[in-house]
Amino acid sequence: MQDTSLTELLQTLLTLSHDLGSAAHEWSILGEGNTSARVDDETFLVKASGSQLSNLTADQLVRVRIEPFLTAIASGDVYSDEDTEAMLKEACIDPGARMPSVETMFHADLLGSFGARFVGHTHVASINSLVCSDAGWSAVQQGYLFPDAIVVCGVAPCFVPYVDPGLALARAIHHAATCYRNEYGIAPKTIYLQNHGLIAVGGSAAEVLAITRMADKAARIMIDALACGSPRFLSAEVVARISGRKDEHLRQRALGLTVTA
Ligand SMILES: [Zn+2]
Repeated sequence: MQDTSLTELLQTLLTLSHDLGSAAHEWSILGEGNTSARVDDETFLVKASGSQLSNLTADQLVRVRIEPFLTAIASGDVYSDEDTEAMLKEACIDPGARMPSVETMFHADLLGSFGARFVGHTHVASINSLVCSDAGWSAVQQGYLFPDAIVVCGVAPCFVPYVDPGLALARAIHHAATCYRNEYGIAPKTIYLQNHGLIAVGGSAAEVLAITRMADKAARIMIDALACGSPRFLSAEVVARISGRKDEHLRQRALGLTVTA
């Protein structure tokens, strides 16, 4: 990649990070959440550990190799915390760079194995209200409540039960996303992590932002619908119809989203 393109990519990722960490909404506060962008087939940029999305700077984005993480995820090897730290350090293109986030591993997998160009992971307050309760976790797995969520977030979310952040989580996400792709024929756009948060998987920074906004709205509506009584879920036929509509595909293109069919 040319230096000018890399600079543009870096700026786009910084802007996305600032949007996801903005105080205007409770998606990620303090050091919560992380972002990444694919540079080429071998490398990507990811947020450094200990930095904040809201005021992320260029030197807090680390360029790392994809392959070491894919190998670790595919292996059955046990990694101690020290092994994981060594892997994160060794994957850095610049040996003097800051330490990449411990969640770099699932970013590598979504960018390297599932076709994503940008990934945004947040701890959206409304989504965590659902995924941190048994009733909420069960409700989000029953489906969508309104058509626009399908247009922006895809035919269905992908769900990952709680596991320890780091390699165990990256392996669980890989397993869930693989099952999802086998079932739907496409990679997931939204991944709900139990007791943890949201991952938005996009073909562009604009798509990651749009997915996060719509998933937040869908979660707030779900909470209110649960409070009102029984949420009325869209049927599988309605979901299939919305996913296949040509006018909705036009709308997806106009919004800069990946077309779902
Ligand atoms: Zn997290």
